[in-house]
Amino acid sequence: MADKRLEGGCSCGAVRYRLKAAPMFVHCCHCMQCQRATGSAFVLNALIETENVEHLQGDFHCTIGPSESGRPHDIYRCNACHGALWSDYGRRKVMIFLRVGTLDEPAALPPDVHIFTRSKARWFDLPADAKAFDVYYDMKALWPPESLARRRALLGDV
Ligand SMILES: [Zn+2]
Ligand SMILES: [Zn+2]
Repeated sequence: MADKRLEGGCSCGAVRYRLKAAPMFVHCCHCMQCQRATGSAFVLNALIETENVEHLQGDFHCTIGPSESGRPHDIYRCNACHGALWSDYGRRKVMIFLRVGTLDEPAALPPDVHIFTRSKARWFDLPADAKAFDVYYDMKALWPPESLARRRALLGDV
């Protein structure tokens, strides 16, 4: 049941991947670090099990990214174009934050929550029904039960 919409890759096309499942949750992060790292106003990250990302082709490497929490933040990038594909916050290996913009159809994964809206660009208005938080949110309150179960199976927490 491979979903064509859930394939993606870096901008040069060397690295290609396919998601084997829908993500557990999708963040739209408006923090200053994401704005700086992407050169944009926010970034969309799909939280998914590493094992649900099928690596189709191309080599990647990892660089150390900024971290507000003090935990390690590894950014995985294409060896050829160095474009960022996903992040591993906390070096947990089993769960990644996939850059939704690297999907062939990024619109397939709209955000479930907006975080760090305290630094949101003033010219950008969120939809009235958007779930938005100044900093972070309560996962237990917002994640669907199936996603919480997947996360629990993976990390043991929540
Ligand atoms: Zn590339
Ligand atoms: Zn951020």
